[in-house]
Amino acid sequence: MNGRIGVTILGSTGSIGVSTLDVLHRHSDRFRVVALTARQDVEGLYRQCLSHAPDYAVMADPDAAERLRERLRSAGRPVEVLAGAVGLEQAAVLPDAAYVMAAIVGAAGLLPTLAAARAGKRVLLANKEALVMAGPLFMALIRAHGAELLPIDSEHNAVFQCLPPDHAATGLSAAGVRRILLTGSGGPFRTLPLDQLPEVTPEQACAHPNWRMGRKISVDSATMMNKGLEVIEACWLFAAPAEQIEVVIHPQSMIHSMVEYLDGSVLAQLGNPDMRTPIAHALAWPQRLDAGVSFLDFARLARLEFQAPDFARFPCLQLAFAALEAGGTTPAILNAANEMAVQAFLDRRIRFTDIAAVVEQTLERISGRAVDGLTTILDDDARARATADERIAARTLRV
Ligand code: NAD
Ligand code: MG
Repeated sequence: MNGRIGVTILGSTGSIGVSTLDVLHRHSDRFRVVALTARQDVEGLYRQCLSHAPDYAVMADPDAAERLRERLRSAGRPVEVLAGAVGLEQAAVLPDAAYVMAAIVGAAGLLPTLAAARAGKRVLLANKEALVMAGPLFMALIRAHGAELLPIDSEHNAVFQCLPPDHAATGLSAAGVRRILLTGSGGPFRTLPLDQLPEVTPEQACAHPNWRMGRKISVDSATMMNKGLEVIEACWLFAAPAEQIEVVIHPQSMIHSMVEYLDGSVLAQLGNPDMRTPIAHALAWPQRLDAGVSFLDFARLARLEFQAPDFARFPCLQLAFAALEAGGTTPAILNAANEMAVQAFLDRRIRFTDIAAVVEQTLERISGRAVDGLTTILDDDARARATADERIAARTLRV
């Protein structure tokens, strides 16, 4: 239809989804919205349907889908409403959408994101959990079906921008890359006295100093599990061995990550912390688009600081490195246990410091296996959730 690129957003009501719609709206001459999806926020998705007129809207929750269908019918809006996991996968493969933004949080995004890869789409990947769970499978599908994978995570988008364009074909070493340096702010508790960590609340954990994000990734940033997941994500995205990836704490979140080359050069990508920059980059690549983001004022940048990560403060980071080394389904087990523990913390069932303990105990009880297919990954995800649930119950605060 009139040459515009069709885009589907999986998880359109979330933080990344809303930022994506903002960029698309600024460039409605180039892009059009084909499908929007959400879990159960009927009101949010209804309003997005009014503003962005997609062909399809999907609610993962079937009752919510029925309510949305009714509201759109009453308003006379011709949007086809799909439901459930099947509806999410249908949205991911629609022929009219060449691009799919994968912005569902957690394991719930895995199957529709894989479906988009299988359908040969340009996959804009925010849903890092999908790659952590199913790295080898995911990357094989991208290659086998001629799909494109563009990172939305700000660090990986930065690394992608700092690597030479042919790095995927040559490999990192032939491209002269020595190390990938993933930066992380250290989150809201970087300097909090350690003895106060057990008492922090979900509100404090979600108050990230530099980024406004969904609640799950905000807690992951506070434990630095987010950086651990990102190290695993980087290994798969850039075919990098773990030893070639280093985490650097950079509290100002101005440098989004760096690539160090053999000759001593370090290329960094900088910008204000606003996810519309990586989103616009991935939508336009290899061109550039105005993202609506304010530009850096170097005269006003006070200073940029860097430190090594503190594993005693951030045990989740260590657990993620260990899971990466173990390989197979262990990263999926780590991810599942973390999702359960973070939700229990947000529900005030366990303390902040219990998150790492639940993940560690789950990893001790469930051993990973070689990844021979999706079923093995989903089985181990389910086993890990059951075990994490027991560990959470054992720690649940009695209030
Ligand atoms: P969010 O919680 O704000 O939004 C999540 C979206 O997923 C919502 O639209 C929600 O309806 C949908 N969703 C949640 N559970 C679902 C389920 N079971 N089935 C179907 N849909 C479901 O999250 P977010 O901050 O936008 O993050 C989304 C993803 O992007 C995460 O994987 C996160 O790690 C990654 N990411 C986010 C940021 C950021 O700045 N927010 C940055 C980098 C990476
Ligand atoms: Mg990130």
